[in-house]
Amino acid sequence: MRPVSHVSGIHFLQIPGPTNVPERVLRAIDRATIDHRGPEFQRLSLEIACLLHPVFGARGPIVIYPSSGSGAWEAALVNTLSPGDRVLMAETGQFATLWSRIATRLGLDLDMIPGDWRHGADPDAIGERLAADTAHAIKAVAIVHNETSTAVTSRVAEVRAAIDRAGHPALLMVDTISSLGSIEYRHDDWGVDVTVAGSQKGLMLPPGLAFNAISEKALAASRTARLPRSYWAWDDMLESTRTGWFPYTPATNMLYGLREALHMLDEEGLANVYARHARHGEATRRAVQGWGLELVALDPREYSNSLTAISVPEGFDADALRATILERFNMSLGTGLGKLKGRVFRIGHLGSFNDLMLAGTLCGVQMGLDIAGIPHGDGVTPALAQLTNPAPALALSR
Ligand SMILES: *Cc1c(COP(=O)(O)O)cnc(C)c1O
Repeated sequence: MRPVSHVSGIHFLQIPGPTNVPERVLRAIDRATIDHRGPEFQRLSLEIACLLHPVFGARGPIVIYPSSGSGAWEAALVNTLSPGDRVLMAETGQFATLWSRIATRLGLDLDMIPGDWRHGADPDAIGERLAADTAHAIKAVAIVHNETSTAVTSRVAEVRAAIDRAGHPALLMVDTISSLGSIEYRHDDWGVDVTVAGSQKGLMLPPGLAFNAISEKALAASRTARLPRSYWAWDDMLESTRTGWFPYTPATNMLYGLREALHMLDEEGLANVYARHARHGEATRRAVQGWGLELVALDPREYSNSLTAISVPEGFDADALRATILERFNMSLGTGLGKLKGRVFRIGHLGSFNDLMLAGTLCGVQMGLDIAGIPHGDGVTPALAQLTNPAPALALSR
């Protein structure tokens, strides 16, 4: 028999990013590249600058790099800090760990609050560290809003309040790569100094763009910061937010896609976008409860609405389950990252997504559990009951 080289129907890309790219965005990207020094590009660029502000909840400048999200991590640090500066981080999971590794490689002095990979950044622990730092050696607090390895959402507003209670001048930096455009986020209201974001998750784009939203305080810090920087330097990029022209060749076609995605978020309305993700998060957690499996997240205040991380029972391999589901049902689920490898699988329910896509996703997982012989109850029925329920989900605001 000839080997099969085509699988019929759509692939369910239910990893927590990159996410499903909607047709409208694909069609927008599929256009001839234009002169990035010409007037048409300038109009595109300035329109995007306007459309980005509400999504970040930021009135100040937002720079766009042609890079993965990790580039925006590095940009946040090199633009604001100097060699040997102390940075306070919280070990919430794999992404917090990776960000801390960049800080260490850049020659910063890392103070990492240890964590169990089941909780978010602890506002009280951060407040205590800052209160004890009377000499103000800590120059920045850097946390991950939505820790994608554990499906835990940190309470950024409470972290801000803890910094204020301690009366500490440290900058606050937040990674929103898997929350922006899916979980409510407010750069200005929460007093965030640098927000780090990427294109390939809530923004419904392919990978390839990364963002820094910058506060006045962070801008001021960048004028005296001494870490070497060139490609990531904000000053050249800031020009682009005023004139529309970039210091180097921008990812023009990705920007066509970004404009379309931002129009889509605006047409749906951000409040509705957040409510949709909250419903899907709640329905997925009801499925997990029905299956009798365990969430990685322990604190209901920190449940993520953009993805769910689920432990498999002792003696089973989460990656074998994922492989079975891919092979039989053409669906990709997120693998366990770092120390959760093999013990956890993750369901992404963010970006361009609706009730029937979630229903299909949960059915695929339940059938996979059957085939893998993992003991479980019925999670699909309680999840569908939640989706049928017209009442809006609770706890929109964090
Ligand atoms: C995906 C992700 C990243 C990494 O982004 P890259 O584009 O792979 O560099 C960082 N932080 C969080 C929270 C993420 O979800």
